Amino acid sequence: MSNLKKFLWNKDKRSSISLTFDDGMKSHLDLAIPILEDFGLAGTFYPVAGGDWQASLNRFRPAFENGHEIGNHSIHHWCSCAASINLDRNGLEYRTYDELESELQSADQRFRAVFPEINRWSFCYPCYNTFVGRGKGRRSYVPVVANHFFAARAGCEMSVAINSPYHADLHCLNSWKCEYRSAGDLISLVERTNDLGGWSIFTFHGIGEGHLPVERSDFEKLCDYLDKARDHLWTAPLMDVAEDLCNSKIDQ
Ligand SMILES: [Zn+2]
Repeated sequence: MSNLKKFLWNKDKRSSISLTFDDGMKSHLDLAIPILEDFGLAGTFYPVAGGDWQASLNRFRPAFENGHEIGNHSIHHWCSCAASINLDRNGLEYRTYDELESELQSADQRFRAVFPEINRWSFCYPCYNTFVGRGKGRRSYVPVVANHFFAARAGCEMSVAINSPYHADLHCLNSWKCEYRSAGDLISLVERTNDLGGWSIFTFHGIGEGHLPVERSDFEKLCDYLDKARDHLWTAPLMDVAEDLCNSKIDQ
């Protein structure tokens, strides 16, 4: 813990927060982005490149041009089906490593076609799952992601989802699941992050609507807190913090 306190984010900040938004939801465009911009904050948005993918991704172009990050959330959004009572074999348990690699390469081409200006991309693991196959054939697909992306956000199997500046895996970054959390709960996670001198990535889905929501007023209170904490806390898109971490000289 004493080591963590030596590290400074973005040159002089004690801790860092990234706000990430999954699945290209309507409330990201209608609520999250305007609220973030009211407080002078920038987030990371992970739409899916399926269906009419050019239209889906282009909806986020104004956000990109206003300084928000756009990241890759795959084409098919394959997740574990271990809890599904549906007989379809569409889950990661039935996929191969090669299929995953092909999926990620195709997704990368689609995102780059719509946003040719972006050189370095981050990836967001659908459903936080980082494996493919089952039983003796089950393996991590983090290495595929590491071959194709600069950074990637997963979930966290432990109770504390903070990323250490010394030990974080840039291709399997921890994140906090934020659905149904109150402003007080979210702010307490920020404070814990600041106490440790780490980096927390918050995962949001719907804001005031849709699946896995956070109430609009709770999200606004969080943004207000982050805005007022700028002197010691750096809130920035995931890629900005990942690059800062890569470029920083770690003083151990
Ligand atoms: Zn998703």
